[in-house]
Amino acid sequence: MNLDAVMNNNIYMVFEGLHSAFQMLLPNYVTLGKSLNPHCLTLNLGTNILHQLLACGDVEGKFDVLFNRVRAIQKKSGNFDLLLCVGDFFGSTPNAEWEEYKTGAKKAPIQTYVLGANNQEAVKYFPDIDGCELAENITYLGRKGVFTGASGLQIAYLSGTESLAQPSPPYSFTSKDVCSLQAALRSTSQFKGVDVLLTSPWPKGVGNFGNASGDVDTKKHGSSLISHLAMDLKPRYHFAALEKTYYERLPYRNHIVLQESAQHVTRFIALANVGNTEKRKYLYAFSILPLNLMDGAELVKQPPDVTENPYRKSGKEALSGKQGLASQEEPACQFFFDLSKKQGKKRQSTGGDSKSISPKQPRKPPQPLGPCWFCLASPEVEKHLVVSIGTHCYLALAKGGLSDDHVLILPIGHYQSVVDLSREVVEEVEKYKSAVRQLFKSKGKRYVLFERNYRSHHLQLQVVPVPLSCCTTEDIKEAFITQAQEQQIELLEIPEHSDIQQIAQPGAPYFYVELDTGEKLFHRIKKSFPLHFGREVLASEAILNIPEKSDWKQCPRSREEEEALARLFRKHFQPFDFAQED
Ligand SMILES: [Zn+2]
Repeated sequence: MNLDAVMNNNIYMVFEGLHSAFQMLLPNYVTLGKSLNPHCLTLNLGTNILHQLLACGDVEGKFDVLFNRVRAIQKKSGNFDLLLCVGDFFGSTPNAEWEEYKTGAKKAPIQTYVLGANNQEAVKYFPDIDGCELAENITYLGRKGVFTGASGLQIAYLSGTESLAQPSPPYSFTSKDVCSLQAALRSTSQFKGVDVLLTSPWPKGVGNFGNASGDVDTKKHGSSLISHLAMDLKPRYHFAALEKTYYERLPYRNHIVLQESAQHVTRFIALANVGNTEKRKYLYAFSILPLNLMDGAELVKQPPDVTENPYRKSGKEALSGKQGLASQEEPACQFFFDLSKKQGKKRQSTGGDSKSISPKQPRKPPQPLGPCWFCLASPEVEKHLVVSIGTHCYLALAKGGLSDDHVLILPIGHYQSVVDLSREVVEEVEKYKSAVRQLFKSKGKRYVLFERNYRSHHLQLQVVPVPLSCCTTEDIKEAFITQAQEQQIELLEIPEHSDIQQIAQPGAPYFYVELDTGEKLFHRIKKSFPLHFGREVLASEAILNIPEKSDWKQCPRSREEEEALARLFRKHFQPFDFAQED
């Protein structure tokens, strides 16, 4: 990734939360041109996008103690980019200090990101459960998600304590939360791991195969869901707190020796509470270069003190093959599969035992709850508009399209958004995208794609051609940004290499547009969104200049016309149609 790209694209987000946090994130987050400190020179970097981060254990309302300490450290060692707080940020007693930060009388000396409540008393401090600014420079991240810096640094987070209750209290997470976080991240085919994972509780069993964990018996304490999460997300650093002690575990491996190729190691660090009398460590400083910028060999280098993965049940099981991983992953995600099954209309009998569904099996698309216009198997589908059918996806002319070759890429099964798609479906979507792009190119047209995951039930990727003579890609981008601004819609630029799946969260509404350069503009829909926005911008004077067509209902065509257009499209598309090749 080049530096210009880094500098032009600021920061992008996340699943839940952080919406308001972005702008604040910008000034400090991306550190360019900072000299390398000795620790990091060993990384032998070709670039210097190195992050200097601080992690902190339970603050428990001792804000002055913490921030004075941070000021002292910054004075001595130079500025850090971010302070990440895990555990209880607020104390159990009312706190006059907090009022001073809240009113702005005092200010945190560093961008500070905190996890949410771990008990009922603390819930009141977090006005928006999905993440919000708590005070100047202090942001609550949200219940769960990932935030990604422009450099690609990924920090995954999960707030609260483990709960088995349904519905879970507002200060807890359940296996469903863990699964959606896993699914969102792992759905990208090149997923290697995240840079940092923040949780409040320790993962259960983290002490297995490791150095002694002091007073904490990790076989009994901690959350097993967090162990699953850590095993799956493979963070390079995992921070936790709540046990009032400091424990830095020896680094552990994420791969099975002799069976899998080497992967990076994980360092688990539990931090003590701020200002504790035993002088246990509560603040941890580290430098990190994002995983995706690291040289592969350097990334997977195994330190001499590396241990076995603590979350694999036993060395024996690990050696016997898939068993280890599968049995670890299953309990958390089994729940997820069950849930999606129950939402389905038809509940097929699987012998009455949900355990018979193997997590290795590709996910079956969920069934629509009612009639669907886009499920290929559904009688409502206007089959005469279909122009190509693949294994997982199909291509159809848009009804009342902006032009004769305005098409939709749709999954054959009932998926709501790209975030829900399994890897095979995503791969085929990409194939269709590239085939349509080539077709348009051969006709002297640019390709613009948009998706609105809001008040829609079945994923529709709208692909609209814009004649090259009309305008440049830059003009299209400009038109989207300007018209969004006019309607108070915040469009964020996403770097080319990022997928929507990394940015949106299953179930959370969004809109994005993708340009022929691969650039994307993303908007996370909060409350409402103009349903025809994408189409309106493309129809506007700035682009296609057919404002009268901005509503598809104003573009009726007879069935015969539609059939003729579909025939024509099929003919033109044939040389590019991978689905018809054999
Ligand atoms: Zn459908």
